[in-house]
Amino acid sequence: MKNYPDLIREVLVAIGEDPDREGLKDTPKRVVKSWSELYAGYMQKPADILSTVFEDGACDEVVILKNIAFSSMCEHHMIPFIGVAHIAYLPAGKVVGLSKLARLTECFARRLQIQEKMTAQIANAIEEHLKPKGIAVVVEAHHQCMSARGIKKQATTMVTSAMRGVFREDQAARSEVLALLKA
Ligand code: ZN
Repeated sequence: MKNYPDLIREVLVAIGEDPDREGLKDTPKRVVKSWSELYAGYMQKPADILSTVFEDGACDEVVILKNIAFSSMCEHHMIPFIGVAHIAYLPAGKVVGLSKLARLTECFARRLQIQEKMTAQIANAIEEHLKPKGIAVVVEAHHQCMSARGIKKQATTMVTSAMRGVFREDQAARSEVLALLKA
């Protein structure tokens, strides 16, 4: 078993720091401790999160949860990207509690990620476990690896989407759900 705080100590030396100065004394331990939160998604299973479904009262109208705040880590730089996810689905007899959609987002955000993949993973998990008639997932995020380094564009927002079922196949249904998600 590696001594992870020692690895972080080496990183501090590599960037030109003095790991023994007062302010950095406990930093290696704190960094390693933060991993259990930042990367908690690896221990969470979409199947567990979406296991409780309700068939009673499941309507045939679109269910939407907007502005699910998340914080993830870009897998290319291990620098945060932060934003919101909007999820809509058209049930086919099964619905889940809205908090479950937030937890599902969290499960995929708390890993090393790329935004496109995270967006697709959310849609795929809902497709697999709820089998709705349609799914639309839109994710908007600000990538600090763009604003803090590289081309240093401060205010850019990246938008990705994943459409499944009726929202993929039917142009009118897609326009309608996208309008609802943007409203
Ligand atoms: Zn990046």
